[in-house]
Amino acid sequence: MSRVRLLVFNPVLQVLDYRLPSGMATDFGQLVIAPLGPRQVLGIVWEPERLAGTEVPDSKLRPILEVLPVPAFSKALRSLIEWTADYYVAPMNAVARMALGSMAALRGGGTTTEYRLSGLEPKRLTPQRAAALDALHGEQASIRELAELASVSEGVLRGMLGSGILEPVTVDLDRPYLRARADYAQPELSDLQQAAADQLVSAVRQGGFTPFLLDGVTGSGKTECYFEAIAEAIRQQRQVLVLLPEIALTENFLRRFEARFGVPPLLWHSSVKQSERRRAWRAIVSGEAQVVVGARSALFMPFGALGLIVVDEAHEVSFKQDDGVRYNARDVAVIRARFEAVPVILASATPALESLQLAEAGVYTKIDLPARYGGAELPAVRVIDLRKDVPERGRWLAPPLVAELTGRLAKGEQSLLFLNRRGYAPLTLCRHCGYRFQCPNCSAWLVEHRLSKRLACHHCGHEMPTPEVCPECHEGDCLVACGPGVERIADEVRELFPNARLAVVTSDTLNSPEKIAQFVAAAEQREIDVIVGTQLVTKGYHFPELTLVGVIDADLGLEGGDLRAAERTYQQIAQVSGRAGRGEKPGEVLIQTRHPEAAVIAALAAGDRDAFYAAEAEGRKDAGAPPFGRWAAIIVSSEDEAEAREAAKAIGAMAPNLPDVVVLGPAPAPLALLRGRYRYRLLINARRSAQLQDVIRAWLGQLQFAQGVRVAVDIDPYSFV
Ligand code: ADP
Ligand code: ZN
Repeated sequence: MSRVRLLVFNPVLQVLDYRLPSGMATDFGQLVIAPLGPRQVLGIVWEPERLAGTEVPDSKLRPILEVLPVPAFSKALRSLIEWTADYYVAPMNAVARMALGSMAALRGGGTTTEYRLSGLEPKRLTPQRAAALDALHGEQASIRELAELASVSEGVLRGMLGSGILEPVTVDLDRPYLRARADYAQPELSDLQQAAADQLVSAVRQGGFTPFLLDGVTGSGKTECYFEAIAEAIRQQRQVLVLLPEIALTENFLRRFEARFGVPPLLWHSSVKQSERRRAWRAIVSGEAQVVVGARSALFMPFGALGLIVVDEAHEVSFKQDDGVRYNARDVAVIRARFEAVPVILASATPALESLQLAEAGVYTKIDLPARYGGAELPAVRVIDLRKDVPERGRWLAPPLVAELTGRLAKGEQSLLFLNRRGYAPLTLCRHCGYRFQCPNCSAWLVEHRLSKRLACHHCGHEMPTPEVCPECHEGDCLVACGPGVERIADEVRELFPNARLAVVTSDTLNSPEKIAQFVAAAEQREIDVIVGTQLVTKGYHFPELTLVGVIDADLGLEGGDLRAAERTYQQIAQVSGRAGRGEKPGEVLIQTRHPEAAVIAALAAGDRDAFYAAEAEGRKDAGAPPFGRWAAIIVSSEDEAEAREAAKAIGAMAPNLPDVVVLGPAPAPLALLRGRYRYRLLINARRSAQLQDVIRAWLGQLQFAQGVRVAVDIDPYSFV
């Protein structure tokens, strides 16, 4: 092979042909460096028949410069990249990029330099140096990472290095990981668990693509079951990928993993520091990494010897990425398992309707764990009709919930209040002139955060200090908070129970692994009486003393732009309910709602999951919604509102006229302005028979857009904002 085709990592170009100089050997999937104009570009050698390019004559080809010293991307991974790009109508190099570590990781191992405190503590320090000294205890990382950790400039740290307060440390990038041991601490499984585990273990032993839906109620011990499958993969010296929906859940997972296998697993997510990512990536490619745990970005890692994929809390919407390549990690995980010919386990107490349907159709093998481990009962559920049991003026907890809270506090048991809204209040207005605080970049209200004394946009991150006077009418002391967020609920609990020990759990308060660990330890040691939290506390946690869950506003999830709002509400409330009564004491759940008659609420109250899913399936069937039909969305945006509108209109005008495809819109998006861009949306509803992606490619392919216009395609969309 002297002519090679490359998939190149360049924002404009995607495919380029080169010449392989004599004496240089390469193979499909190999990572190489090639010249591009005066610069160099990273590329992957690809099968030319799979990657359409322009035929440049042989004589014009420039030579490849270097083959990088890392194993080639396997056929299975390349197929996965092709499939993902094709299915999600995304550029192939954008997908392939998700399989890369840093450039440095590709260059080989060797050593790098990190920095840490030397122990020298001068008497006199500038305030910045003193702050850095405080923040950096126990830390070791690059100067840039340390600067971020300590919120000081890199210059400050270089100064500290100069005066010996920081010291350099040489780090071996390929130092081996401790080995996990399959039989380190094997648990005694219940009969049900054993039967489930046997099935999973035998699938791992045999190899081959076998998708499982591990459907077990909250607290049934699903983790213990799939740990047995992981143990088998470790015995077979095959690698395991475990996907969790949120980084916040990894802390808990790490501890359980370490207790079972003797060492922690490898972590892969965006907040792992650079040198560790480099080390992890290299161990993943070489096959040395045994078990890798990560958020969705770990899905495309180039495993050398993958043997099993686990997707825990598989129903979670955070597996869906909503920018860049808009893929669903749960679905792509199953596809990856198919290409790799390995088993995949989707675990959930509240599976997505799509997954249940596939199990029913016999595509997935369903394993049920219908009872909690150790004989714990599922909690009793009581619905509070907020129209009858009205909270006091300016309060959000209805009297029955207050009464139950009082009871738990008297008994020394823990309670959890769930409201999926960060901050103090979702809207702030001026009592005097009616002015409402809105984000300048988004069509959204600014959310008051009283802990940090700021107003913040939850869409773009815009922030301002909460002002003393109204910016419009300049009256002082006139701002009113409308509606509750978790901080406001916490205030109410403080007023009602001044002696209760309280924890507010949101992504604002639990923003580092240390803080998560502290919270878990405090909750386990019964140093917390009441937890007030967002969806962050709905899953994964196991606090035996927690016996009461209060859902502050069950109707919240039914508003807003979620295409599967009812299912999402069901899952969220069932999950948070699942935190109650996991130990010996029975649990109780109180759900506050204005719509006790809604099907979701009725099903939750009756504990009748099947009824909910049946009704939901019926509704989806009627609407031609997934899994019975298909959806796609097109999002058109521009900084110029007229430009966005015109482009959306042009797309609408060219909408295909097909019997099995219906196009709705264009219409201004519910979030009509986001990060300074005006947005329009189209929703496409297709029958399963339609070649949806081909239709969209052909449709958009014939259109030209103004420079500032962005057109994004979202296949199987979840959110519709
Ligand atoms: P799920 O993920 O299904 O909600 P977990 O895996 O978190 O359930 O299990 C619930 C609790 O029961 C955990 O504290 C777990 O350690 C414990 N548990 C489950 N199975 C066993 C077992 N076989 N032996 C001992 N403890 C178990
Ligand atoms: Zn904003």
